[in-house]
Amino acid sequence: MEDLFQVGELTAAVGSKVQGYLAVSGCDIKLPITLINGAKAGKTVVITGGTHGGEYPGIETAVRLARDLMPADVCGQVAIVHPVNIPAFFAKTQYVGPYDNKNLNREYPGKALGTVTERIAYTISSQLFTQADFYLDLHGGDIHENLTPFVFYSTLGSSESSQLAKEAAKVMGIEYVIPSSSNNGAFGCAAAMNVPAILSEIGGCGLWSEEEVQTYLAGVNNLLRFIGTLDGNVLDLGKSEELSPMGGLNAEQTGLWYPTVGLKEKVVVGQKVGEIRDCFGKVLGEYFAPKDGIILYVISSLAINIGDPLLAYC
Ligand SMILES: [Zn+2]
Repeated sequence: MEDLFQVGELTAAVGSKVQGYLAVSGCDIKLPITLINGAKAGKTVVITGGTHGGEYPGIETAVRLARDLMPADVCGQVAIVHPVNIPAFFAKTQYVGPYDNKNLNREYPGKALGTVTERIAYTISSQLFTQADFYLDLHGGDIHENLTPFVFYSTLGSSESSQLAKEAAKVMGIEYVIPSSSNNGAFGCAAAMNVPAILSEIGGCGLWSEEEVQTYLAGVNNLLRFIGTLDGNVLDLGKSEELSPMGGLNAEQTGLWYPTVGLKEKVVVGQKVGEIRDCFGKVLGEYFAPKDGIILYVISSLAINIGDPLLAYC
C-alpha cells in the first residue's frame, strides 16, 4: 500500500509524519499544518484549532496533537492545522481576522479570489474537506466569552453522517452536546459535504490552562479511538446531556453590558438576563430570556457594540 497523503505542497508517505506550511494562494499567509499518514489503513481525519484566533485551549490542544501523534499509532490519515486562522491568532483579535474584519467561521466554503479570511476558508474546504472522513474544529471560548464546555454536531449531512457526528461528540467527556444546522461555519460546510463534523468549545476569556488542554486531549484521543483512528477501547469520560439547538441574544445598543445570569444557570422565559447602560449609568435596554433554557456562554466584556452577541442558551 503506497497511498500518499497529499495536502498543498506537502506529501506524507505511509508511516510518516510531515510538518510544514499550507500556502493560502494569492496572499502571503501560510498555515502551520501536520500530516500524519498512519502505518495502518483507516479514515482521513481533519482537525483544526484556532478558527478564532483567541481561543487558546483549542489551539494549544491542536499544537500538542500535531507534536505527539505518531504514525505508528495511527490508522488512516490525520491532518492538523494549528492554528488555522494564523493572522487572527497573532493579531489577538476577537471573532475576526485583521485584514478584512471577517469571521472565519461565517465565511465557509470561502472564495478562491476573496479576502484573506475567505481565502483561508477556501483553502481548508477545497484541500482538506474534500479528503476528509471526519472533521473536528477545536474552539476555546473567544476572548470575551465566559463559557461552559459544549460540543456542536452538525445535522447538515446525511442522517448517517449526523448520527456518527453525534455519537463521536458524546465520547469527548464534555457535558453538553448540541445539534446545529448552521451552514456558514467550518463544521457546517464539512457536514454539507457529507463529512461528519463537530465543533467543540472548552475555555474562554482569552485564557488557557494545562487542565483545560488535558481535558481536551483526553476527549480528542477518545474520539479518535471511537472513529478507529487510534487503537484501544473507548473510555467512559462522563455522561453528556443532549440539549436543543442553541439560541442567542444580540445587543440592540452600544454601551456597557451588565449580565444578571451566570453559566449553566437555568432561566425561564421572560426572566431578565441583563441590561445595557450608557456611560452615565442610564439603562438603554433590558434583555429577557426568550424561552426556558440553560445559559452556555455570557459575554464578559463591559464594552458592547450594537449587534454583538450577549449570551447564548439552549
Ligand atoms: Zn470560536
